[in-house]
Amino acid sequence: MEKTLVLLKPCTLQRALVGEIITRFERRGLRIAGIKMMQLTDEILDEHYGHLKGKSFFQILKDSMMSTPIIALCIEGIEAVQTVRLMAGATNGRYANPGTIRGDYCVSNQQNIVHASDSLESAEVEIKRFFKPEEIFDYTPSNLAYMYALDEL
Ligand code: UDP
Ligand code: MG
Repeated sequence: MEKTLVLLKPCTLQRALVGEIITRFERRGLRIAGIKMMQLTDEILDEHYGHLKGKSFFQILKDSMMSTPIIALCIEGIEAVQTVRLMAGATNGRYANPGTIRGDYCVSNQQNIVHASDSLESAEVEIKRFFKPEEIFDYTPSNLAYMYALDEL
């Protein structure tokens, strides 16, 4: 099964939406393999948002991501990377489809509720960035046989 990284951004904690967003992943049938609250730093954000270095909004984005602690989640499921990206919706909440997390909870291009890894390769790097190996748990959900068909497992 795939694992992917989700960050509940400062706006999500400030708006008291943590429970609602985590509930969406649980209800979908995805497994929480790791969860922790963290205060982000300039160093980790330089790495995490390295692809955006040089953009006009880079510093504002980093400041906003450091304004309040975040919650990091490691989410597991078959093709979890794509499933979670589809659940997150388009980056700009104003253009995100209703029914997606961003489309239901935000109207901003930056204060957009969640980060979600964009590929399996990024997910592997990002999970290591935010979690120590012993913070990822490999228990078996008791309802697994009802979440997936036998030929999918
Ligand atoms: N972002 C922004 N302005 C932009 C594009 C992105 O503030 O014009 C922020 C936004 O919070 C986004 C994050 O930078 O979630 C990372 O950008 P990316 O293009 O990786 O989008 P994502 O993968 O989060 O959809
Ligand atoms: Mg991205």
